[in-house]
Amino acid sequence: MKALFLDAASTFRLGEFNDPDANSSLKLRLRVQAVTVCGSDLHYYKEGSIGSSVVHQPAILGHEFSGIVDDERGAEFGFPKGTLVAVDPAEPCGHCEWCEAGHANLCPNVKFAGSAPIHGAMREFFYAKPSSLFKVPDGFDAADAALLEPLGIAIHAIDLAKIKLGASVAVVGGGAIGLLILQVARLVGAGSVHVVEPFEYRRELALKLGANSVHANPASLLELTQKRGLDVVLEATDSPTGPQDACTVARIGGKVILVGIPDGDSFTLTASNVRRKGLSIKMSRRMGHVYPRAIDLVANKLVNVKAIATHHFSLENAPQAFALQETRSDGVIKSVIHLED
Ligand SMILES: [Zn+2]
Ligand SMILES: [Zn+2]
Repeated sequence: MKALFLDAASTFRLGEFNDPDANSSLKLRLRVQAVTVCGSDLHYYKEGSIGSSVVHQPAILGHEFSGIVDDERGAEFGFPKGTLVAVDPAEPCGHCEWCEAGHANLCPNVKFAGSAPIHGAMREFFYAKPSSLFKVPDGFDAADAALLEPLGIAIHAIDLAKIKLGASVAVVGGGAIGLLILQVARLVGAGSVHVVEPFEYRRELALKLGANSVHANPASLLELTQKRGLDVVLEATDSPTGPQDACTVARIGGKVILVGIPDGDSFTLTASNVRRKGLSIKMSRRMGHVYPRAIDLVANKLVNVKAIATHHFSLENAPQAFALQETRSDGVIKSVIHLED
């Protein structure tokens, strides 16, 4: 099959891929339909690694994706041939201490599609266990189904934030995840949601998606609150300064949820600032079993995922999608790679 390989940082190649999973009796064959480009894909593209996950050999990226079941055995599992499905990219081991405790998102043995060295979905066919598949309702297109994965990330972050009714919330970072967190925070009863984002076009979209105010920098948001700060702050940037900015706009005794992956795999916090405020800081890692909720939110039009899918490419042109997202040009939020038209 045709696949897009990342050979090294910034180097893509379209090539032939023979997946050993094609012979697995445990997996169903899917014709990949849409793959959306994630900030984490961009880290592999820019740096060739995310921490200890390093691209040592050609890697296939893509973990936000949908496919059409292309396997007669699908019917046995409730997915007749031709069914459009979203695919959960994570296969936790199911038997380690953390899986047993209900934290499969923290499983150290997880196989995660598109996270080196496990191959992702930027290819014609993908083989998945039936337990990883979620049938989407009529009316969903392939991109909607792929975007359930980043929406799941936003839902998990909001679950961790435990926002009290009427609380003031800030979102630092107005990219795809930030814009989804903004929408979900409103649904769980935040009194107001404010977005800090340096790019004007992203601030404009945040306003359209329901932000009460938008700010080019943290100082501007702090000013709005007469220096008090916000009750809950969710950070979703790729910047090493994002976590510091999030702590800056949090109130005394406030809560900060860090969702983003910083360039360079490290960040710095000013200890006196976070210590004197007595902040509760929590790292958000991927997601739990959230697909059914993500599907409901989109099906019932409570979250607009289409608004973040701004650009569309074929697999052949996918490298352009990465270049576009790296430079944040042409008003891009998220690119969709379409494997079929
Ligand atoms: Zn992602
Ligand atoms: Zn496990």
